[in-house]
Amino acid sequence: MITALEALGRLRQGNRRFVDHEASPESLNSPSRRLELTQGQEPFAIVLGCSDSRVPAEIVFDQGLGDLFVIRVAGNIVAPSQVGSVEFAAERFGTRLVVVLGHSNCGAVLATLEELGRPSKEQSRNLSAIVDRIRPSVETLLGTDPVPDHETLVHQAVRANIRMSANHLRHGSRVLEQLIQNEGLLVVGAEYSLETGEVEFFDGVPVAP
Ligand SMILES: [Zn+2]
Repeated sequence: MITALEALGRLRQGNRRFVDHEASPESLNSPSRRLELTQGQEPFAIVLGCSDSRVPAEIVFDQGLGDLFVIRVAGNIVAPSQVGSVEFAAERFGTRLVVVLGHSNCGAVLATLEELGRPSKEQSRNLSAIVDRIRPSVETLLGTDPVPDHETLVHQAVRANIRMSANHLRHGSRVLEQLIQNEGLLVVGAEYSLETGEVEFFDGVPVAP
């Protein structure tokens, strides 16, 4: 298995190809690759991303079958089943990079901001389970003085939510904590821009010495 930093480099290169409109190598999705993968998988990165139809991880990172272990949920929140999925892939396949992938103008973050401005009792309990997980990072921002304008607020809230999910994965599981301490597991936060197609890794990326 490749290291976390090698995996990060591969994702950066893939996103560059996506942004530059360079076609995927045919081999990534070829019938022979599919057959090869019946013997097993070794995804080189785990991606916890938003369900938003505009942010499919394999496409924005230009990766093929068997490359990414992807967990998608509205607002890229972390609940026990997301932690369990990350644990499963990191332990079973030895994958060493976890990316929390949020994006600009995330609908789940916008819904949380709306909810805080005008609490609605009619919201479904299931949807509340998502909003409630985003709420703490957004509330902190609303507590700042002066409160930023709406556009800035959304931007900051998206990033705060990504950071919170990444931190939850780093500290909310003993299995992952040990993999981080002993096995070089790395959890990073990244934001995809709907406008440019670029992914910016902004949280948890080690600085080159
Ligand atoms: Zn979203």
